[in-house]
Amino acid sequence: GMDAVLVSGGAGYIGSHVVKRLVEAGRPVVVMDNESTGHRETVRAVEALTGREIPYIPGDVGDGDGVRRIVEEYRVGAVMHFAAKSVVAESVRHPEVYFSENVAKGIAFFQALCEAGVSRIVLSSTAAVYGNPERVPIPEEHPVRPINPYGASKVMLEQVLGWLETTFPMRWVALRYFNAAGADPSGRLGERHDPETHLIPIVLEAALGRRERVTVFGTDYDTPDGTCIRDYIHVLDLADAHLEALAALEDGHPSAIFNVGTGLGHSVLEVIRMAEEVCGRTVPVELGARRPGDPPVLVADGGRLREIGWQPRYGLWEIVASAWAWHSGEGR
Ligand code: UDP
Repeated sequence: GMDAVLVSGGAGYIGSHVVKRLVEAGRPVVVMDNESTGHRETVRAVEALTGREIPYIPGDVGDGDGVRRIVEEYRVGAVMHFAAKSVVAESVRHPEVYFSENVAKGIAFFQALCEAGVSRIVLSSTAAVYGNPERVPIPEEHPVRPINPYGASKVMLEQVLGWLETTFPMRWVALRYFNAAGADPSGRLGERHDPETHLIPIVLEAALGRRERVTVFGTDYDTPDGTCIRDYIHVLDLADAHLEALAALEDGHPSAIFNVGTGLGHSVLEVIRMAEEVCGRTVPVELGARRPGDPPVLVADGGRLREIGWQPRYGLWEIVASAWAWHSGEGR
């Protein structure tokens, strides 16, 4: 049969949505997750939604022997690597944790995969690799100059893959996500961080009264309404990008780096207004100071990924509406 796809971090927010799409596409999938931030029940929810059993192994990508065993037992031919720590502020406070968890364990993972004969790897990367960009929209050729350890950890992993390819028969894609947001429309999968730092979940929790208010971090940026602009990408579009990337590798596409964004930016105030419209509720807002390390505008030049047949299907309305189904519903 078809080679299985091993999804590390498949119990997490983005990973679980990708697992669902892979299963729906008929791919054999095996999930591993160390449950540091992922939740096993999330994979159970994907099983319920798809009606398919999904092999799930609680385990760490840094465990080379464990990884080799999984590759052999499930005949893994391709890997999607989501497992990582991803909170920028935490990475600034604890760089050592980000370099050991993301970089050291990531390298151990890649080594085990390459030695076990895995020939295709799709890596979760981030727009945080660009730091404070010199120009927007940002093309993939833009210099990579991360301004926090999280972004730096992903740059390092991209570079490691580039070098591994010179000695192992392996090709890879790194997907640099812009602002992943939204949820599966079932309301059974969604974003759940503790503590939550991301704008859309915070705004929706405030709309629900589970949070007193949203603080807008900075109103004096050089943008039309003074608040930061981001490129919000629906997690379903992001999931599709992973399937397209794997298909491209399987069709012989050379290793590559792709931005994943819509190319459209929305300000913090626009997001809040959209949430009020979608929820039919008022969101209590407080105008506050800038959050250190936030670039004013991050928008993708997403042309390169479109060349392999991907294009985003959803905009801010669908993002906020699907996230609302999750936050306001029972699934959570
Ligand atoms: N933001 C905000 N208030 C919050 C959380 C976020 O104003 O409580 C702003 C943040 O400064 C940034 C944007 O919303 O300009 C998106 O932030 P998020 O943390 O969701 O993603 P990031 O772009 O930092 O990866």
